[in-house]
Amino acid sequence: MNGTDAIANVTRRAEGPAVSELNVAAGTALADLLRSTLGPNGRDKMMVDDGTVVLTNDGASIVDRMEIASPAAKLVADVARAQSGELGDGSTSAIVLAGALLEEAESLLEDGLHPTTVVGGYHEAARRIHGTLDGMAVDGDDGSLRDVVSTAITGRWDDERTAFLADLAVRAYRAARGPDGDVHLENVTIHGVAGGETTDSELLDGLVIDTDASSTSLSDVPAPVPRRVRDARVAVVDDQLTVQSPESVSRYSLESADDLRRARDHEEAEYRRYVETLAAHDVDVLFCQKSVDDRLRTQLARAGILVFERTRQDEVHKLERATGARAVMRLDALDRSAVGRADGVERVELGGGSFVVVREASSEQVSVLLRAGTPHVVDETERILTDAIALLETLAVRPGLVPGGGATEVALARDLREHGRGVAGRESLAVDAVADALETIPVALARNAGLDPVDTLLELRRRHAAGDVRVGIDGDAGELVDAVDRGVVEPAHLKERVVANATDAASLVLRIDGIIETAGSADADGHGGHDHDHDHGGAAFRSDPGGYPWAIGH
Ligand code: ADP
Ligand code: MG
Repeated sequence: MNGTDAIANVTRRAEGPAVSELNVAAGTALADLLRSTLGPNGRDKMMVDDGTVVLTNDGASIVDRMEIASPAAKLVADVARAQSGELGDGSTSAIVLAGALLEEAESLLEDGLHPTTVVGGYHEAARRIHGTLDGMAVDGDDGSLRDVVSTAITGRWDDERTAFLADLAVRAYRAARGPDGDVHLENVTIHGVAGGETTDSELLDGLVIDTDASSTSLSDVPAPVPRRVRDARVAVVDDQLTVQSPESVSRYSLESADDLRRARDHEEAEYRRYVETLAAHDVDVLFCQKSVDDRLRTQLARAGILVFERTRQDEVHKLERATGARAVMRLDALDRSAVGRADGVERVELGGGSFVVVREASSEQVSVLLRAGTPHVVDETERILTDAIALLETLAVRPGLVPGGGATEVALARDLREHGRGVAGRESLAVDAVADALETIPVALARNAGLDPVDTLLELRRRHAAGDVRVGIDGDAGELVDAVDRGVVEPAHLKERVVANATDAASLVLRIDGIIETAGSADADGHGGHDHDHDHGGAAFRSDPGGYPWAIGH
């Protein structure tokens, strides 16, 4: 789009509702869309992704699969992505809260407040929350980690699978903690295997490497390859293991039978040298980053050396950490110090795939073999497990749990209303507005749980005022409970980041004074028509860019 068109476009927008109104509407529309997915009773959205039907109620997953046309809505969506990338949880809450903050802002702007005043009040509220959250936090005990994960992954599965995965996540997390107490997430490897039940998933001590790419090579070789090697000496080579035929061909003209024999002798000698180098260092298992040619594979098998080719770069790093091996660029460069060891190296077949498990007691590597019915569910489960482990790491960095189920939002709202009385001028109205916005979370949880949202909120406020500061909604039982006792708890740090990210998103949108289309923006791609159906509350929508029904903000 050229400059003149861009100006024409902005002019055209200016003839309609004010741009800031459109921005706010775009932000709140995302929130409208996600509110029904919040919490344990959140309902799934159905999306069509590359022709595959995807059912999910995970905010980050929904937003990721959506084509979002409005630049303002994109800002809000980005915050959700940042939220889940940073903490592994809370993206739905961040969007719902950002939407509520924008809705509140709309009426404050109508009352004549300046956007800067609103933004100022919002940040004042976020600062206050930062200061009070730690005071509301309780210490967890041994079982808390599992509660944190169940609360985070709530509503994705039935109770049995939720409990199973929470337990798996906690065990993987604990296993990945080094002796220094630090968590090294790179020590956890997750391998998804389609086919089987989620509850067949297992945690293995050691590093699991997917060897599907090289497994054929194992079955091809004429000599029997060991299934398991105990007390293995391990070498890692970042080279293609083959005898360089182009060189040997050029070195001999291959015209006579003599030359041919000499060429073959040369190759034989090269192959022998490979095998002898490995044998000289008592190598039992060889991982090669590139390919290993057929003849060499045969000879290595005869020498009893287990070889895996096409090992991925990230796996090479993990192998180095797990075994103490150091990858060498060429096999010639292999020396004693580059050879690592493992208690055991074992080939296993699972769900139609082949894997090699490298176990070493002194290493902190653990692997999860994740099973689920279909590749899509495997992916979704893998994502949730990764998120859960990342969330637990948050807790290691900053301990402290707060009650979930809307309890903390009600407590924070109460505190903010009190605090707002001491804030001078019109900003106090914006501080109060944050309190109202926070309460949309328990309201949404109540509605999704089939409770009356108004009565529930009033009852929550009453009990909090009476000092019952941990009372929240139990979505499973559909009643008000002490959320901590019920195990519905979240890291205080998560709550704080949700508030901070939502406040930032709302502030960004409120600061936008106009949208200037540039080449490559949605309209310029030719699918940002101005006549979309505005039904953005539907439970089913398409994520193809051709005609998604809820695109707004144009
Ligand atoms: P997010 O993407 O924000 O994590 P979720 O759909 O996971 O969204 O919902 C999180 C909200 O659900 C939090 O406010 C949390 O306290 C609440 N929640 C989790 N488990 C329960 C439960 N059993 N009962 C009531 N609320 C719950
Ligand atoms: Mg969650």
